[in-house]
Amino acid sequence: MSEESSPELERERELARRAGLRLGGLCPQCVHARGIESARGSLFLLCGRAKEDPRYPRYPGQPVVACRGFER
Ligand code: SF4
Repeated sequence: MSEESSPELERERELARRAGLRLGGLCPQCVHARGIESARGSLFLLCGRAKEDPRYPRYPGQPVVACRGFER
């Protein structure tokens, strides 16, 4: 199930993809991944599913190699 698109969402996904360059694993390829950038330029990867489903951690331990919530 894909989500709506918005400039903010696209930026968060792009940050997640950038974070994935060093993290590897599934999250950077997942439609639910979100990235945030600190004022110092550090990238953090969040799971967007965590907002509505407590089974998913807000900050998944990386790299995630198996996840039932993964979607491209
Ligand atoms: S649903 Fe799973 S693979 Fe997708 S961002 Fe969350 S933890 Fe990562």
